[in-house]
Amino acid sequence: MDTDSKEKKLSLTMQIMLAMGVGAVLGIALNQWFADSIFVQQFITGGLFEVIGKIFVAALKMLVVPLVFVSLLSGVTALGDVSALGRISLKAISLYLLTTAIAISLALTLAVLISPGEGMHAGTTAASYAAQEAPPLSQVLIDMVPSNPIAAMADGNMLQVIVFALLFGVALTVSGRKGQHVLNFFNDLNVVIQHMVDLIMKLAPLGVFALIAKTFATQGLDLILPLAGYFFVVAGALVVHGIFSYGLLLKVFGRFQLIPFFYKMRSVQLFAFSTASSNATIPVNLKNVEERLGADNSIASFTIPLGATINMDGTAIMQGVATVFIANVYGIDLSVSDFLTVILTATLASIGTAGVPGVGLIMLAMVLGQVGLPVEGIALIIGVDRLLDMMRTAVNVTGDAAVTCIVAKSEKRLDSATFNDRTATFDLDPEPDAEVKQAT
Ligand code: ASP
Repeated sequence: MDTDSKEKKLSLTMQIMLAMGVGAVLGIALNQWFADSIFVQQFITGGLFEVIGKIFVAALKMLVVPLVFVSLLSGVTALGDVSALGRISLKAISLYLLTTAIAISLALTLAVLISPGEGMHAGTTAASYAAQEAPPLSQVLIDMVPSNPIAAMADGNMLQVIVFALLFGVALTVSGRKGQHVLNFFNDLNVVIQHMVDLIMKLAPLGVFALIAKTFATQGLDLILPLAGYFFVVAGALVVHGIFSYGLLLKVFGRFQLIPFFYKMRSVQLFAFSTASSNATIPVNLKNVEERLGADNSIASFTIPLGATINMDGTAIMQGVATVFIANVYGIDLSVSDFLTVILTATLASIGTAGVPGVGLIMLAMVLGQVGLPVEGIALIIGVDRLLDMMRTAVNVTGDAAVTCIVAKSEKRLDSATFNDRTATFDLDPEPDAEVKQAT
């Protein structure tokens, strides 16, 4: 009976994977055979796919600020202990910085060994890239405190929203009975917003299909060839970091079983891949670590949005490989101290990199500037950046989830049975007999 109904209804992850596969094949086909068709460009790629994809991403983003604010309030107050908050922040931030430093070191090692871009000359490609100003670290720190919390929410400035929610949560905890009234309201609101997430996730297969089809139809695969060396070193480093570094970390710091973790991360990675935005993936990542990996809301509601804002391992990998690639193309030698500077700047840059598509490149300008490489070099790699952005975002969100599980377990706020249970599903994707199980 169980298997029967499972066969009839594909799980959400399967639906998303299928949608993605079909979208990729269709996109590549359109790119190959209908690239000149005005109809396809205007009405299919630039029309239908664009509209559906954008609506889907907007719908996800719509939930981020209310979800983070309300869920973080519930989480902080559930901790009930302000000193725990300091401890958790310290653990999470240290692990986030550690994973980023590992990521960039790995990327630099691979890039130096494989040396992409050697023999290619910048003179042959008219490189031009107007670098945008990357904010200095001091400004990033000052900007963490919102002078106007409503503006912070309106702008979707996540660090500021997190800081305000933490403070508000602490104040609620110490406000006694009055605080409890306000808190009850927010706890109920949290449940309502969770249901909104469920509703939007029902759209996921369609949204993912449109986003992927549009990307492949406009980008095609031909772009990759001239930059194959660069592309595959970044992709290789992302895979190695995504599997081995996180695997090692999960084992060493939490003695976790790895298969359930990676198995359950698939749907979150697909969301990240198709939206290329850690921020837009927050609702799904949060839901996944809580409902399927067993992390308590009091930890996850803080570490997931924080990670989406400051933890960018995949982005750091791209920046490491790009630095070596650009140095090779321009025939500039990097010294050991240059490499150390790259590790330090890219790790710090990841804190200031917002979790939205393409920002990694802006922060790359800062890294290049630190070691005296020409910022125009970015123009060389911009063509393949969209696809790499999708891949690195999938790694970024995996890092957020891994650190969340480690911190939650160290705080004894992770349900290992749920973590290890392969059949644990999202709420909206219930086991056919879940209600029966609950009732008994
Ligand atoms: N798209 C990335 C993210 O949202 C950031 C970047 O690398 O551009 O995580």
